[in-house]
Amino acid sequence: MSGELKSITTFSEPQPVMHCKHGLCPELYTSWETDNPGRRFLRCQMWQRGDCGFCQWFDPEIVGRPKELINRLRSQKKALENRLKSQEAEHRVISTRACELEQKLIDANAKIKSLSIMNDVLTQKLKVVTDEQAKSDNHILELVTSNAKLTEQLVKLKRELKLLKTLLKCLFFISLMFVVGLSCFLAGKRNKAMLYLPSV
Ligand SMILES: [Zn+2]
Repeated sequence: MSGELKSITTFSEPQPVMHCKHGLCPELYTSWETDNPGRRFLRCQMWQRGDCGFCQWFDPEIVGRPKELINRLRSQKKALENRLKSQEAEHRVISTRACELEQKLIDANAKIKSLSIMNDVLTQKLKVVTDEQAKSDNHILELVTSNAKLTEQLVKLKRELKLLKTLLKCLFFISLMFVVGLSCFLAGKRNKAMLYLPSV
């Protein structure tokens, strides 16, 4: 009865009075060896610290189909336990990865919040710039309109200047004619006066 797993079992039925060589009541264990799966036995309770050698079967030997079934179930249990361990390891890896991703998500959210604040600030600045641009456009439009009016006035003034120049030329010509006429008139008068002068 050595080797495989042995678990202690409490007594569920009346026990005969029995003592080991230490004078102690033996304890009931269960063998999980392949040859005796699930078979209980009595053993000295001091067996780990100074075994007196007391050990005897409590249950009759299990044979045939029940023994085969117990061993198969034990193997399946062991396989399931191994699978469970493997899945627990995978779960730990996934949990660690999930924690990392969660932290990244928190960081990303913080960045998004920061970018959102920056975006609000830039939007406000853009609005100010747009308003200033609109004011500048209005000012330019006013200047263009004013320039058009001034150009129109300039054209009008040039036209008036041209007219004045023409008038000035006419006046000059009339004055010239007047002076010439007056000179002729005066010259005629003087010639006439010369005719009436007594000859010497
Ligand atoms: Zn003993």
